[in-house]
Amino acid sequence: MSTPAATPYWGPDFNALAAFDPDIAGVVLDELDRLRNGLQLIASENFTSPAVLAALGSTLSNKYAEGYPGRRYYGGCEVVDRAEEIGIARGKELFGADHVNLQPHSGASANLAAYGAFLKPGDTLLGMALPHGGHLTHGTKVSFSGKWFNAVQYGVRPDTEHIDYDQVRDLAREHRPKLIVCGGSAIPRLIDFAAFREIADEVGAILMVDAAHFIGLVAGKAIPSPVPYADVVTFTTHKVLRGPRGGAIVCKAEHAKAIDKAAFPMMQGGPLMHAVAAKAVNLKECLQPEYQAYARQVIANAQALTEGLAAEGLRPVAGGTDTHLALLDLRDTGVTGADAEKRCDAAGIVLNKNAIPFDPQQASIASGIRVGSPAVTTQGMVETDMKSIASLIGTAIRDADGSRTAEVAVGVRELVGAHPAYPEPKRAG
Ligand SMILES: *Cc1c(COP(=O)(O)O)cnc(C)c1O
Repeated sequence: MSTPAATPYWGPDFNALAAFDPDIAGVVLDELDRLRNGLQLIASENFTSPAVLAALGSTLSNKYAEGYPGRRYYGGCEVVDRAEEIGIARGKELFGADHVNLQPHSGASANLAAYGAFLKPGDTLLGMALPHGGHLTHGTKVSFSGKWFNAVQYGVRPDTEHIDYDQVRDLAREHRPKLIVCGGSAIPRLIDFAAFREIADEVGAILMVDAAHFIGLVAGKAIPSPVPYADVVTFTTHKVLRGPRGGAIVCKAEHAKAIDKAAFPMMQGGPLMHAVAAKAVNLKECLQPEYQAYARQVIANAQALTEGLAAEGLRPVAGGTDTHLALLDLRDTGVTGADAEKRCDAAGIVLNKNAIPFDPQQASIASGIRVGSPAVTTQGMVETDMKSIASLIGTAIRDADGSRTAEVAVGVRELVGAHPAYPEPKRAG
């Protein structure tokens, strides 16, 4: 192995990877091909920018920086401190928050830290049931959140498929949770944060909003912010927000110490300083006016896609969407979520099967699919493209024998060809 020559910048060098490890270089290039050649409709995914990727692939990955800026357990942190300080300042500005912690390694780690700040094992937490749109970490039995805490679960109303606020209030009064969490991974409609605040105040609970999915829409000022209402807001940085894979927490000043101590040293060791720097880059992107236009277009596209899918005979759960994602009930088509996912995948349309509220199917089959617009909107697609995508999905789903897969694949190629996710890589040889 050669040592680095005197370069002004020692950053990611793809040729070095390709020369040393063609196996993994091949994986990287094939994944880029997969991203470029398919329609990415997974609601929790996006295409992060070259600027974010440059910070991620940097030598900041080498630095141990346990602690917080100016208060580290290791020497040599004065440079990486700047990345975290800049990122925190940008996060405060963007969200109007008292306090920001950028160290959680992921959304689940951010939730673990937030629970750690307020709860002891055995305490009661009230969260949304996963099959109704919540998240694993909100009290499911297979997660630490359901194993270590007394987790009580609320859901949506059978008639409207909106969050059942009466049920939330009744359960809160009955079980007196120490913490109430709202947010989830398959909630197409806006959440009434004021209603949750009122319920939390009535029973003296901490209100935690898990904004993992929709924080990008908040950052882009396209939907109301939970920050004024919540004691603590946790989120991922890689979904609509479009930053590096990771988590973050914002909270009221009174909880700042507890949150910081829970992130480190209670739940994590050294922060990923390359990821913290990449989060700072992403937060700068979110402060630009272009990002607000992006966030509005994400919603417009999700709504156009949902209308198009409804016209294809797929029923939008909760009657539609106010956000970046929609949940579609496929029962009228006679096709399961699992089959729909497979048929779309065969034609280059990447989406996921998803349980619908009160789903008669088991989760591994499911009666629905979930679609999201963050990635295709980053590619520059607009409402007319969403209508085309809806019709391709409708065709793919009803195509039981695969006789129309090639035709749908051609439609996919046309769309992604007109709006490439990333430039085409130059391949050696
Ligand atoms: C995605 C998500 C998470 C978990 O994020 P990871 O980074 O995968 O750990 C937590 N909560 C909600 C609501 C999510 O949608």
